[in-house]
Amino acid sequence: MSPYLAAVLLALCAAAAQARQPEARWLAEAGSFDDDLSPTQRLRIQQQLAEALTSAALRNRLPPKATAQLQLQWPLRDDGQGRFGYHGISNFVDHDAAFPNRVRDYSCGTRSYDTASGYNHGGTDYFIWPFPWQLMDTGEIAVVAAADGIIVARADGNPDRSCRMGDAPWNAVYVRHADASVAWYGHMKTGSVTARQVGDTVSAGEYLGLVGSSGSSTGPHLHFELHDAAGRVIDPRHGSCNAAADLWSPLQPYEDPAINTLSLHTQPPQAVSCGVDEAGQPVHEQTFETDTLLPGSEFFAFASFRDHRNGDLSRFRILRPDGSEFAYWDLDLADQDQPRPFYAASAWLWRLQLPADAARGTWQYQAEFHGRQLLREFSVGTQSELRRIAVERERAATAGLVRPPPQP
Ligand SMILES: [Zn+2]
Repeated sequence: MSPYLAAVLLALCAAAAQARQPEARWLAEAGSFDDDLSPTQRLRIQQQLAEALTSAALRNRLPPKATAQLQLQWPLRDDGQGRFGYHGISNFVDHDAAFPNRVRDYSCGTRSYDTASGYNHGGTDYFIWPFPWQLMDTGEIAVVAAADGIIVARADGNPDRSCRMGDAPWNAVYVRHADASVAWYGHMKTGSVTARQVGDTVSAGEYLGLVGSSGSSTGPHLHFELHDAAGRVIDPRHGSCNAAADLWSPLQPYEDPAINTLSLHTQPPQAVSCGVDEAGQPVHEQTFETDTLLPGSEFFAFASFRDHRNGDLSRFRILRPDGSEFAYWDLDLADQDQPRPFYAASAWLWRLQLPADAARGTWQYQAEFHGRQLLREFSVGTQSELRRIAVERERAATAGLVRPPPQP
């Protein structure tokens, strides 16, 4: 074959590979992770906090007001394994006092919401992604204190998968900081709220509860809201539409595009709406995730993103144990014919097939996005070969007890 013909054939093969269409997609739409504190609910919380802060029991424990500027650190923690990321942001604080449908976030964008009843979103919503209901049920994503302080109120035991807007109370912890500001951590999972009580101190990074969907909430997320000493909402993010100082350290960017997870599945993962089935029973996503595949089997490659924008190219590769390329494709949201040019989160699934003579051993599922290279390893072999690989791995992981692998 002439080198020219070989080059053309290679180019055609590459083009075919790059055109691989997703089998399924999941998009975090506007409203996927919303909340709505009703005016009654908000008033009730503010009264509760005012009473607590002036109560004799708490007054004696509050230190004198400090003048140093508050600094906040990341309010979530991943207690699971194998993920590069686990969150997205659906809504910022709405700085436009008019309503409805008049929203302006700190960066003069519209990533917020208001309601006809006059509620302008007062916090930042950090949702968990992908498979939010499974993540909530397994309790892998914790809410942690963004700054040192004293618990001034707490609530637990409220239902956490109603998915309805209304007057339902949430599970929450309210922490007063040295500068007399108060942080609200809302929507936590039922039964997960810290054992620390009103009047107890908490340190930055300390566990407060698990991300949940209690109260008026359409999906598992943390609603983080900050109030100054006078009880007014503060947006801790500085931008062209918010002159106040930025309190986050490190700074949280307006858009933070990244791949959250790469995984392999034996069947397409299921989507779940509102964490309940048709009979109202609690359910979460069945994911059919695997890290072992049999030669000749069909499988699905999955990738989830946060802050996914048209034109942001991601490249995916599957490599055999010897490093040779088994599959290659790329993804641009712009080619996927979606109604919006930007999603706070997305997830994609591609169907693939291993040949019967697929090389046995450790394969790699690689991705490249925004200059970052990510990889997930998986094993290919027969049942007995996979068992042997698992035993070898377990042995290698046992410190000081690594032995040569058994001879076949
Ligand atoms: Zn919210």
